[in-house]
Amino acid sequence: MTTENKTKWRRLRACSACDLVSAIPVLRPGEHACCPRCGHVLARRHLHPVQRSLALAISALLSLLIAIAFPFISMDTNGLDTQIELPQTAMTLVDVHQPIVAFIVSCTAIVLPALYLTGVILMQANVLRRVPRAYSDVIARLFSRLHPWMMADVFMIAALVSLVKLTEIGEVQLGVSFWAYCVFALLLLMTTRSVDIDWLWYRLAGEPPPDLRIRCGISAAAQHAIGCTTCGLVNALPATTPPNGHICSRCGSHLHMRKPNSVEFTWALLLTAVILYIPANAYPMMITTSLGQTHASTIIGGMIELWQHGSEPIAVVIFVASVLVPIIKVLILVLLSWLSQHPGPLNAQQKTRLYRLTELIGRWSMVDVFVVAIMVALIQSGNLMSVFPGPAALAFCAVVIITMLAAMTFDPRLLWDTQGNTHDRT
Ligand SMILES: [Zn+2]
Ligand SMILES: [Zn+2]
Repeated sequence: MTTENKTKWRRLRACSACDLVSAIPVLRPGEHACCPRCGHVLARRHLHPVQRSLALAISALLSLLIAIAFPFISMDTNGLDTQIELPQTAMTLVDVHQPIVAFIVSCTAIVLPALYLTGVILMQANVLRRVPRAYSDVIARLFSRLHPWMMADVFMIAALVSLVKLTEIGEVQLGVSFWAYCVFALLLLMTTRSVDIDWLWYRLAGEPPPDLRIRCGISAAAQHAIGCTTCGLVNALPATTPPNGHICSRCGSHLHMRKPNSVEFTWALLLTAVILYIPANAYPMMITTSLGQTHASTIIGGMIELWQHGSEPIAVVIFVASVLVPIIKVLILVLLSWLSQHPGPLNAQQKTRLYRLTELIGRWSMVDVFVVAIMVALIQSGNLMSVFPGPAALAFCAVVIITMLAAMTFDPRLLWDTQGNTHDRT
């Protein structure tokens, strides 16, 4: 970035991953600006951003409505025909006394994506009509916090895994809802990518002139400034801290130099996850009763059975999602929490890459929980054959949620604090 550009636009942003302050130039549609130090995307532009995300969000919401209204999967077992609709995957879990798992399944697969899409539609419609609404700010603040909890793509993979398992029991037919949900998962992904938070806040609240004392190529903390993690604005801090703490001058979010007690919270959550991982593996994940006989399978046991029955690819998917991902995630976060306070062999760039990996893979562990939800909903034929969730379902669900929270409470900017504040810029 040239010196001329820096002085001309002065749209300063502090990277949420490494805290380096950069000046973002005017971006053309299709372009994005990355942090020159860690590569984190600071802003991206789309052609007709409002119309684009509005159209995608409406299409996604319509697909979800179709997915809810029609049959999801039907199965014929020895002449007994059963079919389920999408909401039954959560409702049946309530009937079999797993209300917490039911709540998490319904929220991550249906409710939160529906709320997010409604929020996008309301806010973009207001931006398009140039009608300022107080609730637009609230919705925009929630956007980035909702992203990791929307798991339509993970649910889709779980549905495919369930199909393979179900074909061993009976004849399976996919309903209209299944295909509608596939389309919904894809459109939801496209909608989240189309929403440009940086541009949105500019439309909602403008761009206040930056403090001329703030310089690029240095971390915000070193200049007694904080980059807002909600709207991106760099706020120069007053000499004294106000009684209620620092507040972003544009979006009103609370500002913290670093997330308060980040490492302590991360350690506590990791320890909880490790403890819960023991019952998650020791107890059965799924209990099957068939003609008076009961068979309970743990995560590892279920995986071995899949392998023995010739479903090697599905066994590998379950192994990666339920065993490998949680262990790798916990190990990486333990390592990063340690390295944020002690010197170690990795440089900050490598540590940031590891942190991004934990953010990327964590939610995929929910596959097995969704598989249990689908199997339980579809196979409830009384004495002939019924499937119930085991005690491990709740424990494993908690492991996934808690490790995700651990990744969120960890502040990646801590990884750069020991690397020095300056950065060579051209
Ligand atoms: Zn960065
Ligand atoms: Zn802000």
